[in-house]
Amino acid sequence: MDFAFTEEQEFFRQTVRDTIDRMIMPKVQELDEGEEFSFELWHEFAKLGYLGIRHPEEYGGMNIDVISQMIFYEELFRGDVGFAMTVTMQILMGTYFIGRFGTEEIKQKVLVPAIKGEKIGTICFTEDQSGSDLAGTRTTTVLEGDEWVINGTKMWITNAPTCNFCTVLTTTDPSQGIKALNFFLVEEDMPGFSRGQQLKKLGSRSSVTGELVFDNVRVPKDYFLGEELGKGVQYAGEILNEVRVMTGLAACAIAKMAMDDAREYANRRIAFGNPISKYQLIRSKFANFWAWYESARWYCYRCAWMIQQGLPCLTECMLAKMFATEMCLSAVDEATRIYGGNAFAMEYPSQRYFRDARFLLYGGGCHEVLQDYLGRIYLKED
Ligand SMILES: Cc1cc2nc3c(=O)[nH]c(=O)nc-3n(C[C@H](O)[C@H](O)[C@H](O)COP(=O)(O)OP(=O)(O)OC[C@H]3O[C@@H](n4cnc5c(N)ncnc54)[C@H](O)[C@@H]3O)c2cc1C
Repeated sequence: MDFAFTEEQEFFRQTVRDTIDRMIMPKVQELDEGEEFSFELWHEFAKLGYLGIRHPEEYGGMNIDVISQMIFYEELFRGDVGFAMTVTMQILMGTYFIGRFGTEEIKQKVLVPAIKGEKIGTICFTEDQSGSDLAGTRTTTVLEGDEWVINGTKMWITNAPTCNFCTVLTTTDPSQGIKALNFFLVEEDMPGFSRGQQLKKLGSRSSVTGELVFDNVRVPKDYFLGEELGKGVQYAGEILNEVRVMTGLAACAIAKMAMDDAREYANRRIAFGNPISKYQLIRSKFANFWAWYESARWYCYRCAWMIQQGLPCLTECMLAKMFATEMCLSAVDEATRIYGGNAFAMEYPSQRYFRDARFLLYGGGCHEVLQDYLGRIYLKED
């Protein structure tokens, strides 16, 4: 067993950390309060090449190892969570199907500019009546001659107000449930594509989220992203391990920021003649957090290692995502308790960690859905 990062990975971590400290940290409060996507910051960040960390070099990517990719996500989520969500959407789900199934022409037209940050992408699963239950997808595709015709509305889409292209999950037959689901590429200039309402959100507020409408959108035959019809859910599952470990490390980063900030507060806040950090009940919060944080973080990196080795790790990645997120939700709650009434004041960062952490519950699977699946596996049910 070897639990050490390589020298190159340590160096990479420090480089990313320096970038986040310099470029993002000074703007975190402003980004959260502005509730707007910063194109200026996006283009500045894109120049560094990180948007291509998991894509091949021939398209302008870095193609670095999985553990280094996870190091990048962990450092990125120390900064503004909304900005980090936009970046990870572009790197993972937003471009995954295009990188995997797109024709050479599509890759040159969409993937190459996406890696440069010139085009913004997103993924569209969720609809009004279907989130966890993808079998409820009602956005349809019908083949007419040489074109696919898409009709439907997607909700809760990260980057909906800003995206230049999107990968859309649709059904060829709603009565067939998940067996009829497929992904298609849609570009913003295609007739019938439009943007609906933008949502006001509790957290991750600098990533913009909303509705996308597809009204008889006609896409060329080769905008179908897959090898075989009906395998959309299987293809999505093949990237979800990475998404779940990324989410787990995002949780670790947010938890650590919240508790490090609470430590400073506990050391300077005086109650009953002492800094509150002198009281055992306050100390135990830090001790519990520390144990859970270390366990969650190293379990996430173990999953990253398993992905890198090509080992089957579906249940491990689900466990890692679930545990790290629950650890984070507990940590951000404890951090606000340490702050006392000041946790309610918008001028302190504690409330932001508390709000931002909530998004972790949904990406990569809601916890009740993961718990149900994992419980069945552990109980060896059919
Ligand atoms: C900030 C943010 C950004 C998002 N970005 C995107 C995006 O870019 N693209 C996209 O497609 N979607 C996006 N989503 C949507 C997200 O993927 C969904 O919220 C998620 O899939 C859950 O679906 P739902 O909200 O419809 O909840 P539901 O599926 O309706 O679940 C509601 C509750 O019921 C529980 N539940 C559901 N099924 C079961 C079951 N079988 N057993 C027990 N409990 C169950 C859930 O755990 C949850 O507690 C985003 C959401 C947020 C908050």
